[in-house]
Amino acid sequence: MVTTGIGWDVHRFAEGRPLVIGGVTIPSEQGLLGHSDADVLVHAVIDALLGAAGLGDVGEHFPDTDERWRGADSIELLRSTRELVAVGGVEIAHVDATVLIERPKLLPYKPEMRENIAGALQLPLARVNVKATRGEGMGFVGRVEGAAALAIATLERPEE
Ligand code: MG
Repeated sequence: MVTTGIGWDVHRFAEGRPLVIGGVTIPSEQGLLGHSDADVLVHAVIDALLGAAGLGDVGEHFPDTDERWRGADSIELLRSTRELVAVGGVEIAHVDATVLIERPKLLPYKPEMRENIAGALQLPLARVNVKATRGEGMGFVGRVEGAAALAIATLERPEE
């Protein structure tokens, strides 16, 4: 059986925070605010994987009220998610994601983001894709109030 899951996340921009997206720390005047490293892309991918596996959402597994996850490296959370999902013959077939961010431009960083996500999920690069788009000056993305990401994950599961 093939199952799919969607993921969506948003984080607000704030001064004095590192900008971490897809496990890459990107030079920027401001970063994203969050309990963990606020890696909006990785959080969307985690939710997509949990969705495809029927395992709830990121907040249930890594609650932002838990001191364990303060400043957490979200790539580590993604590794833990793989261990939750890829069990009992379940295989991660593909992950695709889009980051919505006005600036900075993510083009130079996308290959490393893809490598980081594929590495954490123990997948070949061909099974992971990362895209980025701007808000064209509209909405919270366009006004640089925050960044968002959406993701879709596909799992191949043994017949039950
Ligand atoms: Mg988040």
